[in-house]
Amino acid sequence: MATQQEICKFNDLMETNDVFPKSLEALKNLIIRYETITLKEIQEIQEIQRKECIDETLKSILTGFGATDTCTVCKSTASDMDRARCEYCISNIKKGYFPSTGCSETPQLVKSFYSIAYANTPRKLYYAYNQRAIALREYLAEFGVTNF
Ligand SMILES: [Zn+2]
Repeated sequence: MATQQEICKFNDLMETNDVFPKSLEALKNLIIRYETITLKEIQEIQEIQRKECIDETLKSILTGFGATDTCTVCKSTASDMDRARCEYCISNIKKGYFPSTGCSETPQLVKSFYSIAYANTPRKLYYAYNQRAIALREYLAEFGVTNF
């Protein structure tokens, strides 16, 4: 869970709310997911799904990537699951807003977002996940969140 100390750090940046700790926790879990997913797992899902190439459906199955209703961080902000409350999400603290990427993305995160979006082989996707995890850890480190 997000610690009280972490939550306090964000009080200056945004209105305190019940959504933020959930989205922080979801983002930490997503980073760990990106860091621990294996190339073999990507290849196995591809085989199970009988896909010729890595497509959006596979990316959604693997990590929820690609849409607000599958993204684990977006979903964590919707208490009644009717809509994501992006305005309170950890991903939305810095307002480098890029609507075309679904979640608002800060400039430093956009590159890794598109690396995943454009990855068309298991190996490229595996590498993109790795880069995404690094970029997201840097994003959280800007707010002093490093202990996970
Ligand atoms: Zn999201």
